[in-house]
Amino acid sequence: MTRSARCAVLLAALALSSAQVFAMGSREQKAPGSVQETAPAKYVFLFIGDGMSMAQVSAAEVYSNALASKTPGQARLGFTQFPSQGLTTTYDSSSIITDSASAGTAIATGNKTASGVINMDPGKTLKFKTIAEYAKEMGWKVGVVSNVSLDHATPASFYAKVPSRGDMYSIATQLVASGFDYFGGGGFAQPRGKKGDQADVLAIAREAGYRIVNTADGFRKLDAASAGKVIAINETLQDSEAMPYEIDRHPDDLSLADYVAKGIELLMNDKGFFLAVESGKIDWACHANDAAASIGDTLAFDSAIAVAVAFQKLHPEDTLIVVTGDHETGGMSLGFAGTKYTTAFERVSAQTGSYVAFDQTVLDPYKDGRSPGEGSLKDLLPEIQRFFGIDVNALPIKDREMVERAFVRSMKGEVERAAQEDTYLLYGGYEPLTVTLTHIANQSAGIGWTTYSHTGVPVPTYALGNGQQLFDGYYDNTDIFRKLAAVMNVRLPATN
Ligand SMILES: [Zn+2]
Repeated sequence: MTRSARCAVLLAALALSSAQVFAMGSREQKAPGSVQETAPAKYVFLFIGDGMSMAQVSAAEVYSNALASKTPGQARLGFTQFPSQGLTTTYDSSSIITDSASAGTAIATGNKTASGVINMDPGKTLKFKTIAEYAKEMGWKVGVVSNVSLDHATPASFYAKVPSRGDMYSIATQLVASGFDYFGGGGFAQPRGKKGDQADVLAIAREAGYRIVNTADGFRKLDAASAGKVIAINETLQDSEAMPYEIDRHPDDLSLADYVAKGIELLMNDKGFFLAVESGKIDWACHANDAAASIGDTLAFDSAIAVAVAFQKLHPEDTLIVVTGDHETGGMSLGFAGTKYTTAFERVSAQTGSYVAFDQTVLDPYKDGRSPGEGSLKDLLPEIQRFFGIDVNALPIKDREMVERAFVRSMKGEVERAAQEDTYLLYGGYEPLTVTLTHIANQSAGIGWTTYSHTGVPVPTYALGNGQQLFDGYYDNTDIFRKLAAVMNVRLPATN
């Protein structure tokens, strides 16, 4: 980083006004076009690809290229062409490998905390103020979009403070109490609490003045003039109150891009808005080692970001778009021991549904009514071909035996499987048959996985618009908060 850029970052981190900066020193201390020379941004988008690091982004680009060309290459996504790019470290206070709660806390508040904690210190006594709350305090409108449940760790990081991300009912009531203007995407995982004995959070939200919409039709009819504060829950929810994977999405269903477009429509005003958008199922796909689902959601994430880019083109002076990941998931890699220096990413397109869709529509119904030991893999071969593009009979004998063993394990059911800790490396707590099939499909494309959890590698961060240059370089996830605060001209207390 150059001296002037370093200086710009430092000044921005201190959130000094342009007048103060000018008073401090000569013009050469400022990077050209830096925030100190222009008015602060007032339309700020923060996109978080959950579980999205370089491999997830590159896999989507290599896949797109492989569909169109036999020459090796990467068809660039829109956001990877942003003019400012950085690398962001993601460790938290308890581990090199963060979880979404502590990562969200770092990004939203600038503070490191322990895994599982949202917007509180590791001792779980202090509470941290979020960038979204600062925005609301400045009179901006605020929106939070996620395609997983709205009370999940990443969206919660913008409005809730809880000792444990598992306190989803408390998170949900804090969502209502936030008074933020627009929540959209998934539903609530515990709308009546863990035991189902609490007041319905949707009723509480209605009483607090929120309009609840849970049909695509109702969503499309929302307009800024009459909507008021909105909680928009997707009509189709696939797993754990989340929107469907892009690979499973019906063309008539709403997409993440639709939620961003509606957010802009509802939040637009002269003072400003802050819109946080999470693509949460890149992470879920990678936990399950399902590259096709991850790539589909990464491409859909790019389409959602493109909606913000179109807005930025209309309001270039006032807009900042930041895209980052909260951590990597799965230890995904472009390369696998079995395929050495070759890849065949076009094969990913042979998969037509996610691991979840296969479980829900094929495997679970097949298991229903059959006792362990019953059933034959033969019955499922046509569906396996249809979902994963795998002709099991044409596989090498070792792979075929692996699928057979996995089928037997799946038929034995959840309880017995959980006790088989020796099978964790093979199946990671997922349906043995399904995860074996995604492994075979991914490996034949040259995609490898090392874990069913997160990893500690840094993530890329991309920025476009007013203040973009602050996001160049190599910095920590806590710095994202300070950079956003600088561009938004948030007055931080001295301790932050
Ligand atoms: Zn995460």
